[in-house]
Amino acid sequence: MISPTAVAPRRVVVKLGTGVLTSGIGQLDTQRITRIAREIAELRAKAVEVIVVSSGAVGLGMGALKLSKKPKDLSKKQACAAIGQSRLMQTWQAAFAPLDLTVAQVLLTHEDLRSRNRYLGVKECLSQLIAYGTIPIINENDTVSAAEIKFGDNDTLSAMVASLMEASHLAILSTAPGLIDMKGSGQILPVVERITPEIEAMAGGTTSETATGGMISKISAAKLATHAGCGVFIASGAEPNILERLLSGQGPGTFFVPSGLPLEARKRWLAYFQRPAGILLVNACAVPVLKEQGRSLLAVGVTEARGQFRAGDIVNIADPSGKIFARGKTAYASDEIPALAEKKGEWIRTLYPNRKRLEVVHRNDLVLLS
Ligand code: GLU
Repeated sequence: MISPTAVAPRRVVVKLGTGVLTSGIGQLDTQRITRIAREIAELRAKAVEVIVVSSGAVGLGMGALKLSKKPKDLSKKQACAAIGQSRLMQTWQAAFAPLDLTVAQVLLTHEDLRSRNRYLGVKECLSQLIAYGTIPIINENDTVSAAEIKFGDNDTLSAMVASLMEASHLAILSTAPGLIDMKGSGQILPVVERITPEIEAMAGGTTSETATGGMISKISAAKLATHAGCGVFIASGAEPNILERLLSGQGPGTFFVPSGLPLEARKRWLAYFQRPAGILLVNACAVPVLKEQGRSLLAVGVTEARGQFRAGDIVNIADPSGKIFARGKTAYASDEIPALAEKKGEWIRTLYPNRKRLEVVHRNDLVLLS
């Protein structure tokens, strides 16, 4: 069994859910925040770099407005976040100041990590904040996030940050004590070696008024981060001395073993940071060529395009049954695909005389998802 201590903690992303940071709707649990800040300072004293992803803005805004239910309306949620975010940062600042640590607020939308240039810019800025010795405290920029530019939940955001920053570990701390083994013991699974469909089936959504993610989003976050070579913990943030216990392999909760062969950074960005614009269906012969031989997707393998996309967009690639197994950057737009699929290659060649082969997705731009 691989232990969390197999890799020494070097850079740790700590994700804190609303439920951990608050007691009751919109009431900050300052005692707990102070305790977590102290634990983070202890890690820093051991030269471990820490990045925090903190939820709580919407919940704190609700508290300030005395709302007992999360508003359904997007603009109301955005307003709650605007009110709560400054309270959240004030609290973090107050918790870290006596420890002689400076915090830095970083608010991100999905769009900031989807565009390659902005993604690289965010990485540079976070690296600089770490180099300055500060604790970056990241949250989704909920106030400007509409559905199409949202991460959706901070579990996903924390995994993206862990991947972007090549963290050694990601600790997802919430009120959930870990992943319960629904198929076997009914107890918390201490270690998950690989996230299989059975593991995914053990997760359920959230029922909390203020939280967003639930176990489903935590498992998919763990999948993303482990593929980046990062070890992931899902544990209760209410436990004392939790970070040290987790990182020394003595923690409660579930540890997800990092993938032995992590995807390289650009492929991670392709696989996990994009919202695919459509689907390319391929024939049965193309599936093993892509899956086992790692080759490019050629026009002869494509049967259909679903959705509207342009050349250069990121699309999913599905087998003849419609099951998505890969993702990549398409060299052709959706309206060019029918002619390609009907093998009117010559027609396409007259449009693109410089293209030697009718590669729809080049292997360098293609990544397998399962
Ligand atoms: N960004 C949201 C907030 O600060 C939380 C989202 C989440 O909990 O996943 O309230």
